Amino acid sequence: MTLRLPVYMDHAATTPCDPRVVEAMLPYFTEKFGNAGSRNHKFGWEAEDAIDTAREQVASLLGCNEKEVVFTSGATESNNLAIKGAAEMYEKRPAGETGRGHIITCAIEHKAVLDPVKRLVKEGFDATFLQPPTDGVITAEMVRAALREDTILVTLMWANNEIGTINEVPQIARLCKDRGVIFHTDATQWVGKMPTDVEKDGIDLLSFSGHKIYGPKGVGALYVRRRNPRVRLVAQVDGGGQERGFRSGTHNITGIVGLGKAAEICRLEMDAEGARLSKMRKRMETALTHAIDVSQINGHAEKRLPHIANISFGFVEGEGLMMAVKNIACSSGSACTSASLEPSYVLKGLGVGDELAHSSLRLSMGRWTTDEQVDYAIAEITKAVHKLREMSPLYDMHKEGIDLSTVEWAHH
Ligand code: PMP
Repeated sequence: MTLRLPVYMDHAATTPCDPRVVEAMLPYFTEKFGNAGSRNHKFGWEAEDAIDTAREQVASLLGCNEKEVVFTSGATESNNLAIKGAAEMYEKRPAGETGRGHIITCAIEHKAVLDPVKRLVKEGFDATFLQPPTDGVITAEMVRAALREDTILVTLMWANNEIGTINEVPQIARLCKDRGVIFHTDATQWVGKMPTDVEKDGIDLLSFSGHKIYGPKGVGALYVRRRNPRVRLVAQVDGGGQERGFRSGTHNITGIVGLGKAAEICRLEMDAEGARLSKMRKRMETALTHAIDVSQINGHAEKRLPHIANISFGFVEGEGLMMAVKNIACSSGSACTSASLEPSYVLKGLGVGDELAHSSLRLSMGRWTTDEQVDYAIAEITKAVHKLREMSPLYDMHKEGIDLSTVEWAHH
């Protein structure tokens, strides 16, 4: 079979919808289009039944009761509701004053966590942004050292979206429970890929998105613990009182049906899929780091998701590398947030230098990634790096054994 180009290696950014998900969704665009809020006719009941089924499917994936699932528009909204909603509910002092309460998070969280926390800081809360160690893993000990008398919320991702590393979430959740502090985890990259049991692990709030688990975009969920303790939140979207008042707005019925189906497929297939992807990722990491000298795997070697590789290549220029591998759809170590290319704050947070951060690739594999595609990516990246280095005087100096850190550069 001929390989279709470009090869998609960016499943951490988004996944295609599984055709089984699309099939489940289709009737809800047309004949079953009812509003779940319509209590007096079949159209409404049909929609309500579909939402109930999806709620059960999501609850089975998370290990919770279906009453603890709140449907949202995605992980960004779930994070905002969890973080702002909990902070406002459990604040120590009223709005407008300082010292409203202390929040712990980490410097390499997704912006959908960092920005809500920063907004709360502007509004009178305090926050600690834990600095990760070079392997990127946040431990319970780090959290313990940051806890204060006035800590009301700890929010830490289960797995990092850029480097795939896994934090000590069950241990951190237990610590928070012992201290009576609410614990939220952004599990967007974790859920559907790794077994999740919020009840066993004592997690209070958990966010994720449909489009990372082969479901549709624009839909997600927030798990909200109902017992031991019953977690309360201040709603961030007011209106018709849907989702038990946590999130108003007519249900995105097609999206919710798709999310439910995607959750069910992941629950049934994640073990086999994870084993397959983990093998592929390790093969890719080993092949690239062997074929290319001065290269490094970013993040912890073992405590990581099966499908996300993040590798830096020394002595190549970042933009040149991206141009040279344009037949591989992947992410670079630069965040194109504006016209300027900023090196990734996640890689910088681990202590990776600006140059190396720029010349890094995140390669994330998925449900339909083939061995052939992996072989192609290995060959293309190896070729590109070697070619770019042919033009690099610094690489020549390095090969001649010159320690570049001792070189005194002329400044004009
Ligand atoms: N958190 C993490 C860890 C993510 O990877 C993402 C998506 N990149 C989000 C939150 C935001 O998800 P969404 O865009 O679906 O709201």
